Amino acid sequence: MNTIISYHELVGIEKQNLQRGMNYRCSKGHSVFLMSTRTNAPYDDEIAADGRILIYEGHDSDKRYSENPKKDDQPRFFPSGKLTDNGKFEKAALDFKNNKREAEIVRVYEKIKDGIWSFNGVFKLMDSYQKQVEGRTVFKFILQLTDEKIEGLKEAKELKEDARLIPSEVKAQVWKRDKGMCVQCGSKEHLHFDHILPYSKGGTSRDVRNIQLLCAKHNLQKSDKII
Ligand SMILES: [Zn+2]
Repeated sequence: MNTIISYHELVGIEKQNLQRGMNYRCSKGHSVFLMSTRTNAPYDDEIAADGRILIYEGHDSDKRYSENPKKDDQPRFFPSGKLTDNGKFEKAALDFKNNKREAEIVRVYEKIKDGIWSFNGVFKLMDSYQKQVEGRTVFKFILQLTDEKIEGLKEAKELKEDARLIPSEVKAQVWKRDKGMCVQCGSKEHLHFDHILPYSKGGTSRDVRNIQLLCAKHNLQKSDKII
């Protein structure tokens, strides 16, 4: 959760170069969503329920099939009739809702800047709906954060009830303010976004003043004190 990794590490964990934002079953047993913290990020992803729910927006038509992907409805099918990623995730969500399958497991990574990513957690795909936005139809996917860890990633130690998504703009500002370094020692290794006052003790994820960059060592020292 909120662990910072290089793109190289991301490729190592997922064992592939991910080129698209939505990757249905790109690995055995799970899918991957990529998000962006850029202020002009192409999709409107939202965080709800105090950071335990992510509402991820579906993706536009490929430029090969649409002259203006931002104006056209987000597609469920390719012209060939095959499901797009929107269509595949929608089917997974609806089948789960209708008790036809288990929830699809989705790992979510977010790009902080070139080469720098945050692992946002392992989610379950709970639901999907379509929404009218500025005269066109977009897909929305509702994902619920789980407490699952992933193999091969050294995650920050945090209080269990503290696992929360930090909004993109907060991450981007904190990264800039702390200059991509641990605020205690200046290390650039094994960083993560840390809640200064833990969520479970009334701290918030929404205020940049309550989030800081810490390395693994200083995270551990801090969490030992809190627990
Ligand atoms: Zn440190």
